[in-house]
Formats: sequence, structure tokens, C-alpha cells
Amino acid sequence: MSDYKAIVIGGGPAGLAAALAAANEGAKVLMIEREARLGGILKQCVHDGFGVIRFGEKLSGCEYAQRFINGVKQNANIEVRLQTFVIQIEKTEEFRITATSARGIEVFTAENLVLANGCRERTARQVNIHGTRPAGVMTAGVAQNYVNLQGALPTKRCVILGSGDIGLIMARRLTLEGAQVVGVYEAKSTPSGLTRNISQCLTDFNIPLHLSKTVKRVFGNNRVEAVEICDVNDKMEYIDGTEEIIACDALIISVGLIPENELAESLHIQIDPRTKGPLVDQNMMTSLDGVYSVGNALHVHDLVDYVSETAEIAGKALTQPKKQREWTDIQHNGFLYLVPQKLDLAALADKTVFYFRTAIPLASAILKASVDGEVVFTKKYAHLKPPEMEKVEVPLQLQQGQKVVFSLEDGEVR
Ligand SMILES: Cc1cc2nc3c(=O)[nH]c(=O)nc-3n(C[C@H](O)[C@H](O)[C@H](O)COP(=O)(O)OP(=O)(O)OC[C@H]3O[C@@H](n4cnc5c(N)ncnc54)[C@H](O)[C@@H]3O)c2cc1C
Repeated sequence: MSDYKAIVIGGGPAGLAAALAAANEGAKVLMIEREARLGGILKQCVHDGFGVIRFGEKLSGCEYAQRFINGVKQNANIEVRLQTFVIQIEKTEEFRITATSARGIEVFTAENLVLANGCRERTARQVNIHGTRPAGVMTAGVAQNYVNLQGALPTKRCVILGSGDIGLIMARRLTLEGAQVVGVYEAKSTPSGLTRNISQCLTDFNIPLHLSKTVKRVFGNNRVEAVEICDVNDKMEYIDGTEEIIACDALIISVGLIPENELAESLHIQIDPRTKGPLVDQNMMTSLDGVYSVGNALHVHDLVDYVSETAEIAGKALTQPKKQREWTDIQHNGFLYLVPQKLDLAALADKTVFYFRTAIPLASAILKASVDGEVVFTKKYAHLKPPEMEKVEVPLQLQQGQKVVFSLEDGEVR
């Protein structure tokens, strides 16, 4: 007998929702979180805009998380270990999880595992910036942690590189706290963040957004003193003669998030090179039976409401009696990615939920799903943009061996 029906790794919104969904079905669950408090990244999100789809209200990240934390605390089926870090997972008849904490090394066993360990930010090392590495070069999430959790202002005048959502939110937050944000510089010709964040965080605060520009060099010995900005072409090559030096004391980087998947890789779970997270079926089960991946560890979500939703699918599924899976591939074109990437035909419901992003901005797009060449579902979109994740429910009835293809067509590139 395993100690638990499921062990959930990560106590962010994904882990909280998965644990609650499983526990509400009567499963005994252990949640392991490396930090001192539950809530994941939402602990530092004091801005509003969370929960509009799920609760029909604009909550702060902290308020959104608290609703789930309250549920977890009241649920006798869930045990929580804080300040406990999972260092190793082994698959035998069951899963053996080795975790380290102030209590020392402990081993727990479970029938199922939910990987809800979130994502990490790309750092300055992952983008090509020349010059020195003084204090003051930090990611937007680190700047957010300083301001919102530690009450410290890490800059008086900064440049933000990258137009990801965290950078946009921090441009507004730092401005509200009295810092001067010289501008947001984005190497691509279109912004990476949500349209609503461009409008509410930059336009409303007169913070300029410069497209097709990047930071080429950092200057400063102990502390950042200036950065060199220059134009780039569509191959991301510097355009000589466009350089400009901007005095500042910080360079804040917001150049994307990557699912944190060392634990999945240690179990040899198949990873999708597009999402950088595990390949999953419609129940969020990975290529290894009994292991589920949810939230930003699966793929980077734009809205937390969908994080909770996918996690609940996994939480409920793991309580169901185990059947031999019948995995089939889904082929797709025109998408940046499509999740789930596989279907388990043995557990197909009337409708299957898919989450996707378009590869390029499209106007008047049509999504088509076909089975053995016959179109079985279409949906029209007025516009699609890569920063905005979409959800679609598709009725699919399939036999083993049938070929499923999803496509995004008729898009007029903006
Ligand atoms: C700055 C910012 C602004 C955002 N704004 C919005 C918004 O306005 N609206 C919206 O809907 N969404 C927003 N989001 C997105 C939303 O916050 C995320 O989609 C959501 O937090 C992802 O949840 P998660 O549980 O997958 O990951 P996380 O919240 O990152 O939680 C993962 C947890 O796993 C733990 N963990 C990792 N590895 C281990 C290990 N080995 N052992 C134990 N524990 C581990 C971590 O400590 C963490 O607590 C924003 C995100 C950010 C960063």
C-alpha cells in the first residue's frame, strides 16, 4: 500500500487545484511545497485581473490563491509539507519521492504523481547582452519579489528588456512606487504580452514601448550605470549606427518563461519541444502512467483560471480506476502549440478540451479538426495573437488508427 493516492509537487494555483479536485473525490493527498507559504507565484501578484473567468470577479493574485488555500486547509484528505524540496523521484511498483527539509531526508510513496512545479524566467544569460555584469541586472519576477514581498525598491530609473506580461506589470508597479521606467524595449516587431496589459500598464502610464529594439551592452562596475540600445532586424541582428546610450541603474529582463521540468526529465517523460513541458493526453497524464503535469510546468499559461482548470482535470482523473491507455497522436499545423498533444481513446469524453496558441498573428482565422481527412469541427476567430492562449472544446469520436489533424487556416497575416 502506498502512503498516498497522490503526491502533488508544488503548492501554486495548479497544485492547489489538483489536490483539492483529487481530495474532493476521497483521495488521500500529500502536497509538497519548497517555500514557506502556499500560493506559488501568486503570492507576489498584488495587481488585479485574476479569476475573471472562474469567479466573474477581478481578484488580486493573492486573493485568488487564498480561495484555494482555504479549501486545502479545510480538507482533511490533504496533508501539506512546506519548506520541503523534492530532490528525487523513483518509479517502482509505485512512486518513491525523496524530499529534503529541516526534518532531514524523508521518503514518501504514492500511486500517482502530479507535477505542478511551475516555470522559471529566462535570465540575462539566455539573451545575448555584452558588457559587464554589475548589480542591477535582474528578471522582472525578481524585481516583483523585491517590491511586493520584501518592500524594497530595486531601482530609481530603469530600462525593461522584453514585453512579456511580467515586465509590463512591473513597468506599472515600479512607476507607481516612484521609479522612472525609461521604456520597454522589445526585439520582435510585435509585443509579447497581452493586449490588455500593454494598454493598462504602459499606455495608461505614458511608458513608451519600443519594438524591434534590444539592449546590446550593459555598462557599470558595481552597479548598472547605463545600457546601450540598438535596432534589430527580423533576424534579431543588430543594425549598426542605431546605437543609443541610456543612463539607468537597473536593467529588468522579461524575455519569457520556461516550464521547470528537471523532475519530469529525471523520469524520462517525453517532452514537447514546442511547449518545453511534457506531452500529455486529455487527462493531463504524461507518457509515464500515473504521472500528471499541470499548470505552468505543462505549458506557460496566460491566465490562472486555465491553470486551475487543467489541474482539476488531472486531480479528478487520478481518482478514476486505472485502465490500459490507448494513446494516439494529434497532428497539427499553424499552431505555436496545441495541448493535449495525445488522446487516450479508452477515456475519451463527448467533448475534449484543447488549449492552443497561434504561431503568427492572424485575422479571420478558422480552426479545423479532421478525422481521416473529413472535417468534423470548425471554429472561426476574428483574430488570434501568439501571446493569447485560447481554449476550445471539440467533440471527437475516434477509433484506434484514425488520423486526427488540427489546422489554423484562412488567416490573413496582419
Ligand atoms: C508577474 C505575473 C503576473 C501574472 N498576471 C496574471 C494575471 O493578471 N492574471 C492571470 O490570470 N494570471 C497571471 N499570471 C499567471 C499566473 O500567475 C500563473 O499562470 C500561475 O501562477 C501558474 O501556476 P503554477 O501553480 O503552475 O505555478 P507557480 O505559481 O509558479 O507555482 C509552482 C510552485 O511549485 C513549487 N516548486 C517548484 N519546484 C518544487 C520542488 N522541487 N519541490 C517543492 N516545490 C516546488 C514552487 O515553489 C511554487 O510554489 C501572472 C504571472 C506572473 C508571474
